Amino acid sequence: MPLAEIQGRIVAACDAAGRNIADVNLIAVSKVQPNARVADVLKEGHRVFGENKVQEAASKWPDFRTQFDGIQLHLIGPLQSNKVKQAMQLADAIHTVDRSKLATTIARHAQDLGRCPDLYIQVNTGEEPQKAGVLPADADAFIAEVRALDLPLKGLMCIPPVDEEPSLHFALLGKIAARNDLSGLSMGMSSDFESAIALGATHIRVGSAIFGERVYG
Ligand SMILES: *Cc1c(COP(=O)(O)O)cnc(C)c1O
Repeated sequence: MPLAEIQGRIVAACDAAGRNIADVNLIAVSKVQPNARVADVLKEGHRVFGENKVQEAASKWPDFRTQFDGIQLHLIGPLQSNKVKQAMQLADAIHTVDRSKLATTIARHAQDLGRCPDLYIQVNTGEEPQKAGVLPADADAFIAEVRALDLPLKGLMCIPPVDEEPSLHFALLGKIAARNDLSGLSMGMSSDFESAIALGATHIRVGSAIFGERVYG
């Protein structure tokens, strides 16, 4: 789907929800997509992208940054502690902070690097055993813990279970964010970003609707 069409759908969803378009950031999720496709979207003027893997991000984005100004890169995949430093050097935001060890490792590198990407805590709203994220019942305590480390915590992120109504999960994430005074909500993907916008998403993560299906080699 052309980028302009996605942007049109975002505008319509904002209008329907009485929200300001400037409060909804479109993260174009470029994982696994061929560089030529990503370059096309950059040439159309889009600058905010998302990647799942540190390794893949490292292989693409330093090059793109030399060719295009103003790129903002968001890391949205599970993060191992031993990749934290590289992740922090590459990314403008990390959406998947979900455990103490990760938070303390980020804090340590933030000292060394003298900067820290914007951080989001991933909440496992569906309480799925295979999925990353802090459980909803543990979210308030973990938010307090990350704040105590003096890290730039901007909001929360979730990936609803594939077989459930996503809006219930978006509403739960919004509720946890509201009671903790967090304004950022990273939620909504290709199939459900309009309902995420209706429920307050500030960052929607849209991959296949922009780039086409991912072809895993
Ligand atoms: C891949 C991915 C997306 C994008 O998914 P689409 O369905 O292609 O829009 C969004 N968020 C996360 C965390 C992802 O891993």
